[in-house]
Amino acid sequence: MALSKRSTFSHGVHIHDMKYLSKDKAIEVMPAPERVFISLAQHIGKPAQAVVAVGDIVSRGQLIGKADGFVSANVFASVSGVVEKIAPMRNPQGQMQTFIVIKNDNLDTTVTLDDIDKTDGKQIASRVGEAGLVGLGGAGFPTAVKINPPNPVDIVLINGAECEPYLTCDHRIMIENAEEFVKGARFLSIALGGAKIVVGIEENKPDAIEILSKYDDITVVPLKKKYPQGSEKQLIYACTKRKVGCGKLPATTGVCVFNVQTVKQTYDAVELNKPLYERVMTVTGKGINEPKNILVRNGTSYEEIVAFCGGLKDDARKIVSGGPMMGRVLTDLSGYTKKTDSGLLVLAKGEANELEPTACISCGRCAQACPMHLMPMYIDLFTNVGDYELANHYGAMNCFECGTCAYVCPAKRDLVGSVQLCKQKLREMK
Ligand code: SF4
Ligand code: SF4
Repeated sequence: MALSKRSTFSHGVHIHDMKYLSKDKAIEVMPAPERVFISLAQHIGKPAQAVVAVGDIVSRGQLIGKADGFVSANVFASVSGVVEKIAPMRNPQGQMQTFIVIKNDNLDTTVTLDDIDKTDGKQIASRVGEAGLVGLGGAGFPTAVKINPPNPVDIVLINGAECEPYLTCDHRIMIENAEEFVKGARFLSIALGGAKIVVGIEENKPDAIEILSKYDDITVVPLKKKYPQGSEKQLIYACTKRKVGCGKLPATTGVCVFNVQTVKQTYDAVELNKPLYERVMTVTGKGINEPKNILVRNGTSYEEIVAFCGGLKDDARKIVSGGPMMGRVLTDLSGYTKKTDSGLLVLAKGEANELEPTACISCGRCAQACPMHLMPMYIDLFTNVGDYELANHYGAMNCFECGTCAYVCPAKRDLVGSVQLCKQKLREMK
């Protein structure tokens, strides 16, 4: 069923969503590459530990990296073949990580996990960890930790907002895999003691709202189209009117939030015994020839993905891993997909901001737009003079780097960059 009133949160910004480029493109399966480069650090927490050696023959779905500690996640082979290399390599953000390189034998020999009792909440929670599930919206927080909250939870809230402009992979899953998605939500509900299932969906996805409203045990909350509607605190408020305190976990309000694709992958893990080794991502932007939603194996090179989508246009200017607001700019296409990759965005000339920042004109727009009610201009000002504690007085550590302030800033100041620097300096000072 669906609520009739459209909900939202205070502040935020209205952005042209640009979803028309890919929203009607059905999910295409990208052929597996000849080689996959799989990072053991695709999640928040400790990297996984390699459990295979160079020369080993592995199957698709075989465990190759074992979670190392409570906040960590298992990693699986995405093709069958031979382990060619296990070595540290630099990821696109410049961090050194251990990668496992597998040469594909193109046989797709596949192994699955064992059957479990699908009505047992404890077994479902354990399966979510065993299958290597993490927050697939980009956060990468291990789902096994989230599904074991420190206090009772009465609402499973699914983030169907997909508020990042351009991205459409969650939308496609909700309409193409509705049945699996709903079953995945029910498994999460069982694991959380029978919590009510609520799905928040922005109004620019009326087909998803209509399809999911047909399920009596699912409450669909239509949301106004506004950024960052899908961030946890804003989504919880918009859908339940519960407020998460500063520095508090969402679960303290009795709500556990999951990404659409994490829910679908829960179905895969529990019903099909399939661990996480591939995901749907959106490849889009005016700088790519054929925008698509694709099912892609973990560890596929960005270069091959771009080729599968028709290649770059001559006026391609900027490549982003993720969406334009919270994604990371890539300097080239040398990286490889990971569990958290929801999109690969290629912006063309005129689409990407190419203006240089100028001095702050104290217009206050950044503060008016900030969904956390922070003062980004002062965080920027005091970070730039090296007074990080004063910058934090204006909320640096409460910022979740949504980019809303930078988007509305007429001076094009790098406000998110200042927040990131301030946080890093405060951590070093601790
Ligand atoms: S200060 Fe942080 S939370 Fe506020 S708008 Fe800027 S990036 Fe978003
Ligand atoms: S929006 Fe930009 S110019 Fe305006 S107050 Fe904020 S930082 Fe300054």
